Parts: sequence; structure tokens; C-alpha cells
Amino acid sequence: MTEQLDPEHLDFQSMCRTFTDKQVRPLVAEAEAEGFPALELWREMGAAGLLGLMTPEEHGGSGQDPLAVAIVAAELSRAAGGMAIGPMVSAYMAGTHIVEYGTAQQRQRWSAPLAAGEAIASIAVTEPGAGSDVAGITTKAVATDEGYRISGQKMYITNAGYADVIIVGAKTEPDLGHRGITTFLVEAGSEGLSVGAPLSKMGWHSSDTREVVLEDVLVPHSAVLGDLNRGFYQIMTAFQLERIVLAAMGVGHAAEALALATRYVCDRMAFGAPLIEKQVVRHKLATMEIELDTARLITFLAASQLSAGHPDAARTVAKAKYHAAVAAARVVDDAVQLHGGSGYVEESDIARHHRDVRILRIGGGTDEVQLDILAKAFVSG
Ligand SMILES: Cc1cc2nc3c(=O)[nH]c(=O)nc-3n(C[C@H](O)[C@H](O)[C@H](O)COP(=O)(O)OP(=O)(O)OC[C@H]3O[C@@H](n4cnc5c(N)ncnc54)[C@H](O)[C@@H]3O)c2cc1C
Repeated sequence: MTEQLDPEHLDFQSMCRTFTDKQVRPLVAEAEAEGFPALELWREMGAAGLLGLMTPEEHGGSGQDPLAVAIVAAELSRAAGGMAIGPMVSAYMAGTHIVEYGTAQQRQRWSAPLAAGEAIASIAVTEPGAGSDVAGITTKAVATDEGYRISGQKMYITNAGYADVIIVGAKTEPDLGHRGITTFLVEAGSEGLSVGAPLSKMGWHSSDTREVVLEDVLVPHSAVLGDLNRGFYQIMTAFQLERIVLAAMGVGHAAEALALATRYVCDRMAFGAPLIEKQVVRHKLATMEIELDTARLITFLAASQLSAGHPDAARTVAKAKYHAAVAAARVVDDAVQLHGGSGYVEESDIARHHRDVRILRIGGGTDEVQLDILAKAFVSG
């Protein structure tokens, strides 16, 4: 069901699908074992234009729109969530901060290499004591004559072990709560910057997630990204595209799960006939398709509204993030059920999708955070 895409986006979807089939799928098993996709694949993604969709042409991108980003996130996730998330974080969760808020010099330094897949970025907001509550972060950046001295601890940071640059959220005015946060560009190799060992996760095995520690890291004044004390608002704005990426990843998992389950029940014989001949099995596939289509529709709608600056965009993004993550989890779980015991074997494709899909209800704002955004409209008075 792709009718809502115009011809340009349909062509782009077809290109992303071919890229995923030919260049990503063959590398999944190795990347899942290694904990990271080969750096060569990052460069191939860059060369195919998959990492510079939101980057202006003068900085090496193609200046497209959030719908194109949703398409690439969905298509890559059909191979594996872990293969998609690292590049999506670098390009569309961290890199977009530089595109949106960077100075000419910062864009010059980072945007083209990130779009080309020759550099990798992380975004470090979450801390051991503050995730959903972004305003509760305690990492501090103290102004000095030479620059800012940043100290604190960040948790669950994607790409941290491979990042050339980390965008760090820190309090520049600790007493001002969310009005006292600034974002900084912290380069790999900075004195006092260290990362922990890769975290062993339930899923996303082909992505890198680590703790990041900043011990009195000195960055120049020119490392401030965007406006002083406006970091919270910048992060909240960037969350819109981040949530579209995560919703779209749910769409990719659900689409792949439905395809895998359909193939399986056509081939699997039970009680003298293929499983597909049982009406209850076909009903299950039908409900999975409804969940997939509604998730895709609202995700593409959210992306289109974001691109058009529609007044409902933030609410639609919250609905898409919530619904696509929840629907995808149900579809993938139903697909495991249809696979029977073979779906529980760890190296099966459907088991990997089951492991990978769960995080979508947590990362980038949990289900509850999305419902809270929507619930505000119902407060009386
Ligand atoms: C694999 C992985 C990769 C990640 N990558 C990154 C990254 O690259 N950069 C980064 O900065 N972060 C990253 N994160 C962090 C992620 O964004 C957070 O885990 C997420 O925002 C939730 O925060 P938390 O874990 O602190 O949970 P908490 O905020 O402690 O929430 C725990 C539970 O309480 C609920 N809850 C919290 N507040 C409320 C409330 N007001 N009302 C009702 N319920 C509430 C939540 O919904 C949740 O169910 C990553 C996490 C994982 C697991």
C-alpha cells in the first residue's frame, strides 16, 4: 500500500528497497555479531544519498524532506533495526542539529562528511538519572575564558564508540531548569572524554550503545551548537524528526514481519494442508495488514505535516510514534506466533525483528511521553 506517495518518493522508496536487499541484508549476520555495521557500508549509504536527505546541497546533501527520511528508515529496518539505527542517529538525530543550528564553520566541518558516511555522529542527552525528564540532566558546562568545561555522565548513547563528534546536552545555567541547557559539539579524542564498553542489549545487536563520561572536558566557545540556554528547545524540535524515524522503523519491521509470516504459512504444512488454508491464519494476516497500513499512513502523514509546518504536526508525530511502535510490536509478535517454534530460534529473521522492535516503544520518548503530549489537549480550563 504505497498510493499516498508521489512518484518521486515512490522512486526513492524503490531505490532504498533495492539498496537494502543488495547491500544491507547480506551484511546483517556479520554486523549483528560484530556489534556495528561495516564502515564501508556507511560510505555506501552516503554515496547512495541515504544520509544527506536533510542536508542542503551546498553541504553535500540533497535537501529533501522528512517523508524521504521516513522512507529510508522503514526500508533499512526491513533488514534489521540495528543496521538502520546507527546511520539514522548519525544523519537524522545528531547531524540535523548541525544542519539546523550550526554556524557556517560547524556545518562546513561536519555536514558533508556526515552526509557522505565518512564521519559518524552521536547525540548525548540521556543520563543515568534523567531520560524522559530531559530538563533533569545534571551534566554541567562551566564558562571560562578559554571555553567551556563540561563534566557529567551520559547513558545509552548510540554510536558512541565510533563517533567522530558527539552533541552533548549540558546545563549552562543549572538553576534555570529547561531554560538553562545548551548543546555542544564535543570531538572524539578530547581530553577527559571517554566511553564505556558496548552495552549488551536485548536487540539492536548491530548497533553500538555505550555510556559516555565527560571529566572536565574543555571545548572552545565555538563548540556551542545553536543558542546559549536554548538547547532544550533545540532538542525538542529535533525530536520531531527523530520520532518520525522511529515510527518509520516500526513500519519497516511490521512490513517485513508480515512478508515473512505470509511466506511461512504458505509453505508450512500442518494437518495435511498449508497453514494458509486455515481461515483463522488468514484472519491473523489481515489484522496484521491493518496494523501495518494504519502505522504507515499516520507515519507518512506526520512526516508530510512536519515538512509543511502544519499546526497539528507535533500531535500527529506523537500519534505516529506511539501507534507505529505499538502496532509494530503486535504485528511482529503475531508473526512469531505464526512461525511456531521456528520463530523462537534466536538466529531466525523473525526472532531478530522481535528483539529489535521492542525499543521503539522506549527510545526517543516512551509511549507514555507521547500520550502525555496528546493528553495536554484534554486538560480542562
Ligand atoms: C538502545 C538504546 C539507545 C539509545 N540511544 C540514545 C542516544 O543515542 N542518545 C540519547 O540521548 N539517549 C538514548 N537512549 C535513551 C532513551 O532515549 C531513553 O532510554 C528514553 O528516553 C527513556 O528514558 P529512561 O530510560 O531514563 O526511562 P525513564 O524516563 O526513567 O522512564 C521509565 C518509565 O517511566 C515512565 N515515565 C517517565 N516519566 C513519566 C511520566 N511523567 N508519566 C508517566 N510515566 C512516566 C516512562 O514512560 C517509562 O515507562 C537510548 C536508549 C536505548 C535503550
